[in-house]
Amino acid sequence: MKLATAFLILAPAAGFAPGATYSRSSTSLQMSSTETKAFTKMPASVKPGVVTGKALVDLLDHAKKEGFAIPGVNVVGTNSINACMEAAKKYGGPIMVTFSKGGGQFIAGKAADNADDKASIAGCVAAAKHVHEVAALYGVPVVLHTDHCQKAWLPWMDGLIAANEEFYKEKGYPLFSSHMLDLSEEPLEENIAICKEYMEKFAKLDILLEFELGVTGGEEDGVDNSDVDSARLYTQPEEVFYAYEQLSQVPNAAFTCAASFGNVHGVYAPGNVELKPVILHNTQKYISEKLGNGDDKPMKFVFHGGSGSSVEDIRYAIEAGVIKMNIDTDTQWAFWDGVREYEAKNRDYLQGQIGNPDGADKPNKKYYDPRMMLRAGEEKMAERLCQAADDLKCVNVLN
Ligand SMILES: [Zn+2]
Repeated sequence: MKLATAFLILAPAAGFAPGATYSRSSTSLQMSSTETKAFTKMPASVKPGVVTGKALVDLLDHAKKEGFAIPGVNVVGTNSINACMEAAKKYGGPIMVTFSKGGGQFIAGKAADNADDKASIAGCVAAAKHVHEVAALYGVPVVLHTDHCQKAWLPWMDGLIAANEEFYKEKGYPLFSSHMLDLSEEPLEENIAICKEYMEKFAKLDILLEFELGVTGGEEDGVDNSDVDSARLYTQPEEVFYAYEQLSQVPNAAFTCAASFGNVHGVYAPGNVELKPVILHNTQKYISEKLGNGDDKPMKFVFHGGSGSSVEDIRYAIEAGVIKMNIDTDTQWAFWDGVREYEAKNRDYLQGQIGNPDGADKPNKKYYDPRMMLRAGEEKMAERLCQAADDLKCVNVLN
């Protein structure tokens, strides 16, 4: 059985320095004080569309303070991307659209040349640009994120960084809001040393780093952690503080930590996983005492492998500073379930181009148009995400 849990910890003290890289134009600084807020319940920096840099840190700080977490959803194309934004519009909250390396390759197309991760990079970049173009049309804040990147996959990350640099030169903000590095398979010192090296690169581009300590169990995107030593599934507070201290040394650093508290990728039969969100509470207490700055929740955590967790455990984790929960397995099922229902309902109209119960010469074009089945999947996925947002207390948090 794969267990694992990851929490993201965001270090406010190491947040993007206001005015450091955001004061590109004098008007942007003036706007923050005089401009009408886009969302009455959100910080003024948070606007409809892709949220990056200081606005992202403000959004996550706000979520921690108000006690809600944002759904972080794995996507594989415009259908799942748009379902995310449709859901966010419906539930009235922010959303994190997340690309995995495999998801990026799928978006580029399985027949595309993926030598040196070219297709994985191009697919993520293309889909991120899609989100930049359409996100504001949904009227919600959207965070663009990439998922687990293990050591062997760093060339993929390097390609994404190059794309961020190019985009940043033109626009003054990054293509992606945040990236995850998952070096949890490596020894702690090496994990954090590599994270720090990448934090330097990210900080220059106003990109937030999500790092992982401990191992998320289960299997996702071809990575199988089902037989990992159970001791590694529970992160130690000392490790989190070590990472916090190291990464805080990087100017303009902003980071969150996926710590393990028994979470697991995928859905398994009850009783196989023991989730211990108290680890997050204990970690906050430990770091707070170490920092001694009066902040009783200095970290922001991310919850990986939340599918199948009880609402009670999820809410208790949010109380410990969880500001995002990753969702993949449940939305995968939801999308399929929508397609399955559509086919079951219209089966007699889907057996040939011509001929159905209404007549042997009746055309079926309006039933087999791929948009019909894909839309059914989108609707179910969006519906499932509204439920997730409710679990995460992320409903009606904008206005
Ligand atoms: Zn994960």
